[in-house]
Amino acid sequence: MFNVETIRKDFPILQRKVNGKPLVYFDNAATSQTPQQVIDAIVEYYSYYNANIHRGVHTLSQEATDKYEQARLKIQKHFNAKASHEIIMTSGTTHGINLVANGFASLLEKGDEIIVSALEHHSNIVPWQMLCERSGAILKVIPMNDEGALVMSAYADLLSEKTKLVFVNHISNALGTINPIEEIIQQAHAVGAAVLIDGAQACPHVKPDVQALDVDFYVASAHKMCGPTGVGMLYGKEEWLKKLPPYQGGGEMIAEVTFEKTTYADLPHKFEAGTPNICGGIAFGAAIDYMNAIGFDKIATYEHELLDYATAQLLNIPGLKIYGTSKQKTSVISFNLAGIHPYDVGTLLDKMGIAVRTGHHCAQPIMDYFKIPGTIRASFAFYNTRDEIDALVTAVQKAQLMLS
Ligand code: PMP
Repeated sequence: MFNVETIRKDFPILQRKVNGKPLVYFDNAATSQTPQQVIDAIVEYYSYYNANIHRGVHTLSQEATDKYEQARLKIQKHFNAKASHEIIMTSGTTHGINLVANGFASLLEKGDEIIVSALEHHSNIVPWQMLCERSGAILKVIPMNDEGALVMSAYADLLSEKTKLVFVNHISNALGTINPIEEIIQQAHAVGAAVLIDGAQACPHVKPDVQALDVDFYVASAHKMCGPTGVGMLYGKEEWLKKLPPYQGGGEMIAEVTFEKTTYADLPHKFEAGTPNICGGIAFGAAIDYMNAIGFDKIATYEHELLDYATAQLLNIPGLKIYGTSKQKTSVISFNLAGIHPYDVGTLLDKMGIAVRTGHHCAQPIMDYFKIPGTIRASFAFYNTRDEIDALVTAVQKAQLMLS
């Protein structure tokens, strides 16, 4: 049984006030809030078994190593990877993408093509542009339509035997569009291209099955799914992770080092140079446990109800336009008020205790498509309520009155 009031008690931050008003936190697509269970895992780590991992013979080091590796197993199970060494612990989505892009620099040849989508976050555009500069590969873009959905017929036209890689986000952070990644992966594989899916926005809402998807790489950040910042994961098929050269050199990632030659450690350590975010990794595991205990089916159903309710209520406001109207959408509403800059609305909403994101959301090409400087983005999580949406609607109406 999904009881939002019980769930809200797990999140201490939801009790606080902002500018004298109860906090309404609608910036979940930027980062989610942290339940007590995850905070406890962090406190427990630093209180009882803080130590460096994989190299100590002493008890604390072994306890920390066990917990860290248990977290990797939780991530493996959650994403249904075949083997735990296919899970690389990263500092987040951006790190995972850069790791793969860097590795492909040595595998691509001049004239090879890589495909991204018009719906990407900057972190899924810039690394590929850098890769193209280094390798001479050419970047192609799957266009989007007015609903904020990808034009799949154009994707089919872009694919050829020259395509080596395709990079698409599972869900757009700016508009909430859920991309047809199954189809994207299948079609890419038909021409022999590898696929990386940026799951940063999907993982708070769905439980991806990397084997069922047959995806080559999948990346995510813990901080969008009730975990801490500075930690994330990269799933890579073993065959690909073996093929890619290491991203960074350092301790932990070597088998043997002499001044003449270094050999690299086996997976996953080959990609995990240096002391990792040990506490963060363990807390990521706790966050996965927390979300699974609630259940992703229940989370998705509830968030969809919030999305439908908020969309209907906001559209009652004259002059309010929503960007991203695809039916395949998660609980993100990007909108503007006619004649008013999104930043001004966001500032006034904050004064009323409501946290939203304003701006281009690190997805400038999407804003260029709609010819706008940015949007106001309200993104809902499973701990938000209809009452909070009512508060948002009232606050937007007030802001409109004050600014027009
Ligand atoms: N891709 C998408 C779709 C995102 O929403 C984000 C975070 N806003 C990122 C990548 C980058 O994630 P991180 O900053 O955690 O590396």
